[in-house]
Amino acid sequence: MSGFNFDVITLFPKAFELINNLGVITRALDKNLIDVNLHDLREYGEGSYRQVDDKPYGGGAGMVLKPEPIYKAYESIRKSPKSKTLLMTPQGKVLKQKDLARWSTLDQIIIICGQYEGFDERIRCLADEEISIGDYVLSGGEIPAISIINGLTRLLPGTLGDPDSLVDESHNSSLLEYPQYTRPLTFKDMKVPDILVSGNHEEIKSWRRRKSFERTLERRSDLISNENYKKSPQSKRIIKENNQFMKFRIGNGYDIHRLVEDRDLIIGGVKLHHPENLGLDGHSDADVLSHSIMDALLGALSLGDIGKYFPPSDEKWKNADSLFLLSKVIDLIRQDGWEINNIDSVLVAERPKIMPHIKLMKKNISEILNIDENLIGIKATTNEKLGPEGREEGISCHSVVLLEKK
Ligand code: SAH
Repeated sequence: MSGFNFDVITLFPKAFELINNLGVITRALDKNLIDVNLHDLREYGEGSYRQVDDKPYGGGAGMVLKPEPIYKAYESIRKSPKSKTLLMTPQGKVLKQKDLARWSTLDQIIIICGQYEGFDERIRCLADEEISIGDYVLSGGEIPAISIINGLTRLLPGTLGDPDSLVDESHNSSLLEYPQYTRPLTFKDMKVPDILVSGNHEEIKSWRRRKSFERTLERRSDLISNENYKKSPQSKRIIKENNQFMKFRIGNGYDIHRLVEDRDLIIGGVKLHHPENLGLDGHSDADVLSHSIMDALLGALSLGDIGKYFPPSDEKWKNADSLFLLSKVIDLIRQDGWEINNIDSVLVAERPKIMPHIKLMKKNISEILNIDENLIGIKATTNEKLGPEGREEGISCHSVVLLEKK
């Protein structure tokens, strides 16, 4: 036996002629780094017709590979000490680069290729692992087997001209590779990034690391794990950049104002009447509903709270109309390219009855935010006479919003 042995059980050994024309893989064969031993299933077929398949029990379309020829072929293969058997099936675990890396330390891989409608279930117990090359169905296991032979061979020492090319490539450490350029410097007005011709190797390394993260985030964010982030020296910057690709942000806002005499009671821009003639105290008009929505909007984008934008210390905002403040906040949100998906608020007040005014509140807020009324939920509840709202010391409001990047 030479280097790494691939033993393949197949009904179509001719399909493997392809590997004699695959550059690096062909070189590995020539250099005896690998051996591909083909075991023609037909030779193990039964009777004068060398039958390898049969109709499925219970009926159904197509033919299924019989167990005996595959077992016979399998038993004829000399097993080396570090050997694994892989069964090609769309029902298997989807092949990953880390599987190839794991198998590259073995010295033999036996691959069983199915055909037709598949194989008798009793073949499964020959396999150490069942492998699929993707969530689609091919007519046979030969192309999956060639993919494995190809992908694994290029990981074997001595196969690639420059073993360093394995270090940075896609799917190592679960990231995609950074963009690559070669001469010419400018092609059809497309220029190679300056950094790559700067000669500053440290900068180039860091640029590539960043691009690799960006690419993965853009194309395959499913590959990014927390661990990747932690490993990256620029994780903070990358997380910021990740926001660029984040489509949704959720925000939560809460506000409470004291009920006092000689103040208006304004909620959602609607003037209400309290049975004891109480109103809400605050620097602005103390509209708890608008305030909690503003806080939710700002919170969704980590922009702080309304105190930061309309400080009570600023005379300008004294008795300010909160709907006007809300219009300022939504401008800020839209400036950043975000749009409201929906809002849900709940007011907590013992008295007065809020329900009859909800329709108008929705109308006011939808007009200021320039969104459909259906995207705004406003509910009201009492606090069952419990706590500050229950004792009618104040009225509070909770809001959540969902923003979507447009
Ligand atoms: N009816 C079978 C599919 C049969 S396809 C089923 O639904 O599971 C015929 C053979 O092609 C399979 O036995 C398998 O060896 C091979 N094959 C097809 N798609 C594959 C894939 N995505 N990965 C690995 N092998 C595959």
